[in-house]
Amino acid sequence: MPNASQDQNMALEMHQVVTRFGTHLVHNGVDLEVRRSEIFAVIGGSGSGKSTLLREMILLQIPNAGRIRVLGVDLANITDAAALALRQRFGVLFQQGGLFGALTVLENIGLPLREHRKLANKEVDAIATQKLAAAGLEAAVASQYPSELSGGMLKRAALARALVLEPELLFLDEPTAGLDPQSAAGIDALVLNLRQQTGLTIVMITHDLDLLWQVADRVAVLAGGKVQAIGSMAELSQMTNPQIQPFFDGPRARSAPRQAASLPKEPSSKPK
Ligand code: ADP
Ligand code: MG
Repeated sequence: MPNASQDQNMALEMHQVVTRFGTHLVHNGVDLEVRRSEIFAVIGGSGSGKSTLLREMILLQIPNAGRIRVLGVDLANITDAAALALRQRFGVLFQQGGLFGALTVLENIGLPLREHRKLANKEVDAIATQKLAAAGLEAAVASQYPSELSGGMLKRAALARALVLEPELLFLDEPTAGLDPQSAAGIDALVLNLRQQTGLTIVMITHDLDLLWQVADRVAVLAGGKVQAIGSMAELSQMTNPQIQPFFDGPRARSAPRQAASLPKEPSSKPK
């Protein structure tokens, strides 16, 4: 068996991950590998263990068994110092955004820099301003507070903060959930641009079929405690496995491939 730890092309590896809550077996041997610069998605029904898997990837939870490597670092028995260093190499966009309400958007974006880099305030603001623009927000948003922003703007501001330390790997948890169709379509384009411009590896959890068709290189289907299949959306949509097919049934699924070629797409095509 090839030694995965020496494979520099892998941004993330999970091998035979087992997760239990009491007697409830959530993951029963999850295997997956995410290549560098790939946009990789995990899909699965509610309760299939997607969020738990994400928490394990970002060092918030330890599986009961199995091996996880993130950016070449084995998470088993990781020291606090190594975990701190690793956390600065990836960014996370949580579903709720997680911006601090008492800070302006610019202060929120600059926060990781103030925590982890020795920079003058001027430099922090300059970098934060640059990330604000990269996330597709106007400069005037910098001085606003999170409560003044729309859902789509909040996602973008949180994304700017997740990018401020120039991560090699970005995790997105349901990045379009709760957004209106136009804002969601904007996130599709933004994710694609990010990868094109920086070669960033992106791992996302989503059930948004439009987003999946638009941006995901490969998708892992989580069901029954295991990854049932990994492939492109085109490949998965052809599979007849009863644990996979349900994701591709219905009018949204059927219409999605047709839209995949053009960006931005019709806002009306985005499921809420
Ligand atoms: P998904 O994100 O795919 O909807 P989750 O990863 O949130 O699924 O949860 C998978 C299963 O694990 C669910 O049955 C959930 O109730 C259970 N679970 C998740 N977190 C905990 C926890 N901290 N304690 C007990 N059970 C949990
Ligand atoms: Mg979840």
